[in-house]
Amino acid sequence: MKATSAGQLRALTADTVPDTEEIRPGIWAVPLRIPHGRIRYILTYLILDTRDDVHIIDAGWDSVLNLATLSDALNDIGRAVTDISSVTVTHMHPDHIGMASRLRDYSGAEIRIGRNEQQAMILMAEGVEPTLTPAHLEMWGVPGHRQEELTGPISITNEFYSLQADVLLGDAEALNIPGRHLTVVDTPGHTTGHICLADSSSGILFSGDHVLPTTHSGLGLGGLRSKNPVSDYLASLERLAAFDAYEVCPGHGFRFVGLAQRRQDLAQHHLRRLNETSVALAKNPTATVWEVAEQLSWGSGWHQLKGYHLQSAIAQTAMHLDHIRSSDGSYRRGNPAPLHAIFDPTAAAAR
Ligand SMILES: [Zn+2]
Repeated sequence: MKATSAGQLRALTADTVPDTEEIRPGIWAVPLRIPHGRIRYILTYLILDTRDDVHIIDAGWDSVLNLATLSDALNDIGRAVTDISSVTVTHMHPDHIGMASRLRDYSGAEIRIGRNEQQAMILMAEGVEPTLTPAHLEMWGVPGHRQEELTGPISITNEFYSLQADVLLGDAEALNIPGRHLTVVDTPGHTTGHICLADSSSGILFSGDHVLPTTHSGLGLGGLRSKNPVSDYLASLERLAAFDAYEVCPGHGFRFVGLAQRRQDLAQHHLRRLNETSVALAKNPTATVWEVAEQLSWGSGWHQLKGYHLQSAIAQTAMHLDHIRSSDGSYRRGNPAPLHAIFDPTAAAAR
C-alpha cells in the first residue's frame, strides 16, 4: 500500500487537517472537521459533471464551520452550494450523512443512499436504540465496577436515521452523474448497508469507511438487520477484488494505491481476532464475552480501553463470538443470544 497524497499523509501523521486537493480533473477531496473523538476529519468528495453541476460523496459532519469550508471549496471552482445536484452517502454515520439534509434544503440536490442502509435507518428511527442494557452487561460477564461506564449509546446519535433519501441505490447500479461512470458496490459490514462507489472513468474507488488506510473500521456499527457483520465484512472485502488496480479514496486518512494488500491486511486482522477468540474458548468453553475480550490483542492494549472504546471492544468481541458460533455451532454457552438478535426488533419479536 502506498499513499498517493503527500499532503493527506502528512496531515494524518501530524494529527492535523489537510488542504482541499484536486485528485483528478473535476474531482476534489475536501477535508471536513469532526469535532469529537480521535479522527480529525472526513474526506468529502466533489465531482463536477459535464453540465458543470456538482455531485457530492459523503456530506461531512453537520457544522457551521464545515458548511463554510465546503462553500469555500465550491467558490474556488466557480460553483456554489446551490449548484449541488446530488449527495451520495456511503453509510449512516453522522460524519458521512451529516450535512446531507441541509445541502438538499439549499440546493434541491437529491440524496442517494444504499437501499439496505435506508431500511436499517428506518428500523433504527423507529426507536430501537442500540444501547447496552444492564442485562447485556450481566450476560456478557462485565464486572460490576465496569458496568457504569458502558451503559451509554453505542452510536453517537439517532437524529440522522430519520433522513429519507430521494434515490435508493442497489448493488451494481450506475450513479446518475452525466459524463462519468460511477457504480455502486454493496459492502456491508461496517454498517448493514454500507456502499462503496467505483469510478471506472477515473480509476477511483470511493471506499467510505469500508477500507481505510491505517485503521480497522469497527463492524456492526449501525443497522439491525445483519446477523453476522464479521462474515459480511470479510465477503465485502473480497467483493472489491475487481478494483485492486484503482486508487482508493477513503472516508478518512489518505488516498492510496495497493488495495489488494490492504484488503488482505484487513481480512488478516479479523481472522487473527477470530483465531484468538477460538483459542480463548478452547481454554475455557464457558468464558463470557468479557473474559474472551480480555485475552484478545487490542491496538492500545486491553487495560487502556475505557468508556466508548471499551464498549466497542466488547461489542466487537461479541460479534466475533457470534461468527464462530454461527460457523461451527460449537459455542453455545455463556452468550445465549447474539448481539444482533437482541438489537433486532424482528428477532426479538420472534423469540
Ligand atoms: Zn466515518
